[in-house]
Amino acid sequence: MTTLPSLYISHGSPMTALYPGLTGARLAELAAALPRPKAIVMASAHWLSRKSLVGSAAAPETIHDFGGFPAALYQLRYPAPGSPALAERVAQLLDQAKLAPGTDPARGLDHGAWVPLRLLYPDAGIPVVPVSIQPELGPAHHYALGQALAPLRDEGVLVIGSGSITHNLHDLRAGYSDERQAPYVKPFIDWIEQKLAAGDIDALLDYRRQAPFAERAHPTDEHLLPLFVALGAAGASARAQRIDAGIDMGLLAMDIYRFDGRTFDGSTAPLIAR
Ligand code: ZN
Repeated sequence: MTTLPSLYISHGSPMTALYPGLTGARLAELAAALPRPKAIVMASAHWLSRKSLVGSAAAPETIHDFGGFPAALYQLRYPAPGSPALAERVAQLLDQAKLAPGTDPARGLDHGAWVPLRLLYPDAGIPVVPVSIQPELGPAHHYALGQALAPLRDEGVLVIGSGSITHNLHDLRAGYSDERQAPYVKPFIDWIEQKLAAGDIDALLDYRRQAPFAERAHPTDEHLLPLFVALGAAGASARAQRIDAGIDMGLLAMDIYRFDGRTFDGSTAPLIAR
């Protein structure tokens, strides 16, 4: 069994589902480059809870958790099966890590999950188990959550964190555009890339104090926390590969990261490859 990498995906606006653009192209390339997973564990920034929850539905519904978008968006479905058995295993792993998980048999797939999954695996044939984010518990908690999920990568399970590498929706009204980017976006995403390249987990976990413009890039950080899930799932020696998918509306950077916890061929590829 091949060990799978873990992924962090910036999912962007729900409109990405109708206009996939560069994100769609990058995710299709990524899916083609990976061994097909047996199952997917998906930590989305749009499932927030006080404690860790694992979705155990056998047939998770598609949740249209947004308002004011074109009718066509509400017609889209992602009918992937769930996996109560994998959900149970995930809950056991989180329990062993003393993360006191619960399970939710009614939870479906929010747009942070299904929008990128439709672009990665349009056939919806791979079972998906959603996992929640704890907005009050910060990076270290989510890194530990990811570490607890790491054994699944050896079992053909793809662990994905879905958020947005920058996410300040107040700035939607600030008049930024492709021609006029928010000034904090580039310094912030460059800092994240550099620290990932250096494997500086301590700095990353302390990003709120150390990263330039951290609070402007993330007034609240539920959209960055899934990065730490993916990072933790890949382990301390992971190689990070940044996949540039542009900057949406001048403020939402769409970076995707692939974290390989182990090289398959023993090669010493650079930590960050483009
Ligand atoms: Zn989002």
